[in-house]
Amino acid sequence: MLKNRRSRLKPFFDEFSLKAVLITDLRNIRYLCGFSGTEGALLLAPDRAWFLCDSRYTAQAAEEVQGADVMECAPIRIDTVAALAHEFGLDRIGFEAAHTNVSAFRRMSGMLTGIDLVELGSDLDEIRICKDRVEIELLSSVASLSSQALTTVLEIIKPGVREVDIALALELEMRRRGADGRAFDFIVASGERGAMPHGRASDKVIRSGELVTIDFGALKDGYHSDETVTVACGSPGIREQEIHSIVRTAHDLAIEAVRPGISCKDLDEIARSYIRDKGYGNNFGHGLGHGIGLEIHEMPTLSPRGAAVLEEGMTITIEPGIYIPGFGGVRIEDTLVVTGDGCRVITSADKQLLVL
Ligand code: ZN
Ligand code: ZN
Repeated sequence: MLKNRRSRLKPFFDEFSLKAVLITDLRNIRYLCGFSGTEGALLLAPDRAWFLCDSRYTAQAAEEVQGADVMECAPIRIDTVAALAHEFGLDRIGFEAAHTNVSAFRRMSGMLTGIDLVELGSDLDEIRICKDRVEIELLSSVASLSSQALTTVLEIIKPGVREVDIALALELEMRRRGADGRAFDFIVASGERGAMPHGRASDKVIRSGELVTIDFGALKDGYHSDETVTVACGSPGIREQEIHSIVRTAHDLAIEAVRPGISCKDLDEIARSYIRDKGYGNNFGHGLGHGIGLEIHEMPTLSPRGAAVLEEGMTITIEPGIYIPGFGGVRIEDTLVVTGDGCRVITSADKQLLVL
């Protein structure tokens, strides 16, 4: 598995004639060697790899790191990188420019004398864009845990409950079911607040007849889930039902169209044109979805500018919405895996307009 993952770096080695790649982004480190701690560096040469950490992580690294020699270094990691580079003739090293700040870069170039440092752009993160079997299992498991947690929490939604009570109950329920934590700050937006696509749970009290948008996800073993439902607390009005039905159909049409070979912008347009034809084109301002994995938002981006083409193994969200200032809003979101001939939806909360 790690061999396959690391082989995705080969085009970078070839294109830039690299002798090694220095990985410092924690998501890429986890992906390429299994280490789940919060500090370390991975130096990868084609036929050998070293994982560098300080004494806080030596025991953890010995347990988790695969396919790399664990080296405890103190006090400055980049000194060890320099020593290895000189010992093994690694005179041209690529690094993750998108994850290196200016002061880290200055320190690195000051200490790695005689070594060419080659900036690798954010396209390096695209090595993670198509998930392997192990990742799809982890993503499916966290998605299912999170959907089940919502089912339990829907029972507490009634007039008088605060948005923040729902967010807290949901997080507790996820932890109870084995999540390591929440994937992001949950959005719970009721009534007029539903017009804010990113309305974080507030202490607003939910009133009868309001729609409640809940955007939630769990984190487990480094992988995220992401799902949104919009439910009605008490009988919804005609317009609430209308916009829910439009968003639901746009969501369903996009999911039906997911298959390898379709471009992200064409998929976005399927949902967007449906919403536009129904008269709400100006009320859907964000992209249709995003990739998800070790990061909550990763490649590919589904938007009117999304040039990427879907491939088997990508995991993406589909999340159209309608937001009407002064009135409220609806968003419906599922996470799915692109398969050989379509897709498999891995989130499972009911997407009909539930009246609670
Ligand atoms: Zn979401
Ligand atoms: Zn999302």
